[in-house]
Parts: sequence; C-alpha cells; structure tokens
Amino acid sequence: KPKLLMTPGPTPLPPEVISAMSQQIIHHRTKEFGEIFSRVNENLKKVFQTKNNVLTFAASGTGAMEASAVNFFSEGDTVLCVSVGVFGDRFINICKTFGLNVIEKKYSYGDVANIDEVIEIIESNKDIKGVFITHNETSTGVTNPIEKLARYLKNTDKILIVDAVSSLGAIDLKTDEWGVDVVVTGSQKALMSPPGLAFVSVSEKAWEFYKTSKLKKFYWDFKKYQDNLLKESQDTPFTPAVTLIRAVDVGLKLILDYGLENNFKRHTRLAHLTQLAAEKLNLELLSKKEYSSAVITAIKSPEGVDIEKVRKIMNQKYDIMVTGGQATLKGKIIRIGHMGYVDEFDLLKTIECFELALLEVGYRNFEVGEATKAVLQEIAKEV
Ligand code: PMP
Repeated sequence: KPKLLMTPGPTPLPPEVISAMSQQIIHHRTKEFGEIFSRVNENLKKVFQTKNNVLTFAASGTGAMEASAVNFFSEGDTVLCVSVGVFGDRFINICKTFGLNVIEKKYSYGDVANIDEVIEIIESNKDIKGVFITHNETSTGVTNPIEKLARYLKNTDKILIVDAVSSLGAIDLKTDEWGVDVVVTGSQKALMSPPGLAFVSVSEKAWEFYKTSKLKKFYWDFKKYQDNLLKESQDTPFTPAVTLIRAVDVGLKLILDYGLENNFKRHTRLAHLTQLAAEKLNLELLSKKEYSSAVITAIKSPEGVDIEKVRKIMNQKYDIMVTGGQATLKGKIIRIGHMGYVDEFDLLKTIECFELALLEVGYRNFEVGEATKAVLQEIAKEV
C-alpha cells in the first residue's frame, strides 16, 4: 500500500498530476513547451495573487530562499530576520552565510511573531534594508500574521521577503495587495505537485534592489529568468525540469478550478477538525489556536509518552506518515499535516490510527473513539 502522506510536504499527488508525468520529454526550446510554460506562469500569478512574473527554478524551496538573499543585497547590508522556528532560523543562517549583517528577532518555538514588536525594531534601525519572515512555520505549526508587516513596509524603502514554502495556495497571501516584495514557495506542498521546483515572485521595488545587489550569482541570477519570461515563447535560461513543469501545470489547474478561496477554507476546516481531535484526546497544541496553522497541526507529546514510537507505529502498522519534531522539538511533538491533496476522510483515518497508536504506547487519558466520533460528527453536519 502506498503510504498516506499526512506530512507537511511532500504531499500526495492527484492521479491527474501523476499521469501528466508519464509523457515523453519534449524539448524546452519549442512552441509546445512555451505553451505549457506560459500557462504555468499565468496560473502561478493567480495563485501568488500578483501581476508580476513568477520565476521558476529546478530546485527545492531552500534554493529559492538562498536566491532571495543573493539577488537583492550586498555583503554588509543590514537585514532583519524574524524567526519562530526551524525555517525562520534557516533564513538567518542563509543571510549570515552571504555576509549580511543580520539582526535576529527570535521567538520561542510555538510562539507567533509579534508584528508591533518587529515594526519597532525596524523603526529603531534605519539601516535595515530588508526583512525576512516565514509565513507558515512548518516546524511549529504557526502562521505569522504577515499582512500588517507587509502593509507597513510597503510605504518604506525596505523590502519584505516571505518564505511561503508551506503556505502558498493553502493559506491566503495577497502578494500585491499587501505589498509583499518577494514570495518564495516550492512545488511539493500545497500545490499538489512533486518535489523539485521552486518559485519566486519579485515586485518592482525588489527589482530596484536587484540592480544594486553585489552578491555573486550565476545559476541563481533572477534577471536571466525574468528575461526569458519576457520573450514571446517563454522558457527558462537553463534546461527546465520539463516533467515537473507538466505536473505543476495540472496541479495549479486543479487548485484554480476548485477556487483559491475554497482551497483556503478547505485547509482551515481540516485544521479545525485536527484541533478538535486533539482536544478530545486531551492533548495540547504546541501553539495557541488563534495562530495555529491551517496546513499543519503540532501536538505536544503527553508526559511519559514516547511520541516518536507513536509516529513509527502510524507509519509502519497503519501506512500513515505523520512527522515528529525538528531540532529542539524532537521527541516533544507530533505534527499532522493536512496539506494539498488530502481530504476529510484521509484525516478521519489518520485520527482513528492515531488513537490506536496512542493506546499501543500506553496512553489512556481518552475515551477510545471520541476523537474519531467528533471528527465524523463534524463531517456529518455537511451531509
Ligand atoms: N520553508 C518552509 C516553511 C518549509 O516548510 C520548508 C520545507 N519543509 C522549507 C522552507 C524548505 O524547503 P525544501 O525542503 O524544499 O528546501
């Protein structure tokens, strides 16, 4: 049986996406490829909610995170990195690697960024040229309220770079309306596509920063990708991952046919059902409900329970992959992903097996079937 990926990426693929990948390779300097790629670009703009071009790279999300540091800054530039978890910390490490002067604003794992505090830091450090922040912190299941920060920065001479790797397409991010300059995402999460592609949108303000950036880049030089999008038959400067582009073409179409707004609602509902199950199991969330993510729910391990064993039982016995904690959260939490091509019934099965796995490791502080019943009753309300 294939494993059910209730993880924060990679996520399961719709059959239409799988079959799109079983076609012969076409050459990328052809009209045929140009047509597919143009459609992908137009649909990416819709999902990114931007009028600007979205650049496509054969890379994982981290590659595009790195690229968004090297394309807009120079050694010694001051930037502010706001971190609420592992992926916020990654931006800090990337910026330091390239010699940027990094002001770090870190919050405890499980907390949300306090945007008023962040704005205060920006106001008291006139040298800050850019702000890096994670939209949805996958490691802790927290979504940062970036709209306020974006709207504030819109009227300044600084740019905002957002890691939306685990949120774009599933959690609302109004790139242009809010004024987010650079948005980074990957193919393998909410976009219902395989791993291997990274996407970046770039605002006009960010292109001005590009002109003065002195950090070295060749493969990652954004202008090369932008120039190829300005051609009549759009393509990429280097050989694209043709098969993955075919796949994402279908993934994007499925999302847009379903409707972006509907997709946001669907994810919020899956999160609500997961939170409800946790409550019935007398388990605590890592973060407060108000900022708990729509795409991944981080649940604290109860005292004395080997939560890693629970994760392994779910995987090995029930073929359901959920994830554990990363970094200092290892062994302390379990994360249930509800992202992309998973539905209420996948979640229902996950909760049933979660109950059984908890029982198997000796956790008894719940009524067997209560969590499953609560989720089913919620689903039944829609019948
Ligand atoms: N940022 C966030 C928020 C993520 O969830 C991930 C992947 N888990 C990444 C960055 C890194 O993406 P990748 O593994 O594709 O490099």
